[in-house]
Amino acid sequence: MAKVIAVVNQKGGVGKTTTVVNLAASLAMEGKKKVLVIDLDPQGNATSSYGIDKNEVENTTYELMLEECTVKECIIKTDFDRVSVIPSNVNLSGISIALTQKNGSDKYVLKKQLDFVRDDYDYIFIDCPPNLNDLSINAMTAADSVIIPVQCEYLALEGVSDMIMSINLIKERLNPELELEGVLFTMYDGRTVLAQQVVENVRTTMEQLGHNVYKTLIPRNVRLAEAPSYGQPICVYDPKSTGAESYRDLAKEMLKKKK
Ligand code: ATP
Ligand code: MG
Repeated sequence: MAKVIAVVNQKGGVGKTTTVVNLAASLAMEGKKKVLVIDLDPQGNATSSYGIDKNEVENTTYELMLEECTVKECIIKTDFDRVSVIPSNVNLSGISIALTQKNGSDKYVLKKQLDFVRDDYDYIFIDCPPNLNDLSINAMTAADSVIIPVQCEYLALEGVSDMIMSINLIKERLNPELELEGVLFTMYDGRTVLAQQVVENVRTTMEQLGHNVYKTLIPRNVRLAEAPSYGQPICVYDPKSTGAESYRDLAKEMLKKKK
């Protein structure tokens, strides 16, 4: 039965999509796991990163959340073994208006829909938009746990602390089972003192609070930024790059923890 993991940070451009796309592919390749990626961002970046034309897809997370199609009708097999995607495009930006017409728990449709396919996968990743709107709340209501990618920069700790408060709110109100899977440092540049200090500061504080912080650091690597324009995850685009290596290490770290 799949573990459902939402990748969330209200801050934009911190590496959420890069993490979803490449961690999913690495778990599939390295760990032979079956993975479903749900693109819950109207930007549709996860969709295009797998080489899927987001404007040509018929059923997206928008139709799914409005229950205009079944979850199985939305799933697209990618060119990469064991990785499937539920795509998204700009239509999803109108979902809040559509969802306000629903009431109560009907608003949190994603969880209900995912229950139909949980048995078909080992991991389901949800790529969230850079804010805490209905979409991210739906994701965290459907998820078992959350990964928070954090860029190694000034005020990183404040950002993570805000995210943890949001997770706790969701936990209290909507999803008592929700856990923090881990905090992940992205775009790490070990040559700067700031990056080193941020990692140390966030790691110490989070670990004191009993939260998991991944040992694996994702370095800043231009190959990771290039791969989406070729519609390939990094483990296919440039398997020997430091970016590919780091997401492989992260996959291994996750697999080890799950045992
Ligand atoms: P958004 O909030 O807009 O959805 P995001 O949090 O999903 O953004 P990404 O799209 O994954 O962030 O990354 C932002 C940009 O930084 C992208 O251009 C991506 O290719 C690049 N990038 C992400 N991770 C790395 C990295 N480790 N090294 C170099 N570039 C990276
Ligand atoms: Mg993104």
